[in-house]
Amino acid sequence: MAIGTCESCGSEEDVTEVRRVYVTPEDWDTEGKAEPQPGTEQWCYACRAHYPHQEI
Ligand SMILES: [Zn+2]
Repeated sequence: MAIGTCESCGSEEDVTEVRRVYVTPEDWDTEGKAEPQPGTEQWCYACRAHYPHQEI
């Protein structure tokens, strides 16, 4: 961990490198899926607690 600017909310605190994951909820005609996005971002603890991601 290192102090930095969270690329998700802009807060300055301890950030960790993560890969964002876009989650599509299951519906009657589509399968649910989770798609990791290319590239990485620096996220704070709050964003890591609230949004889907993979830690690097
Ligand atoms: Zn954040």
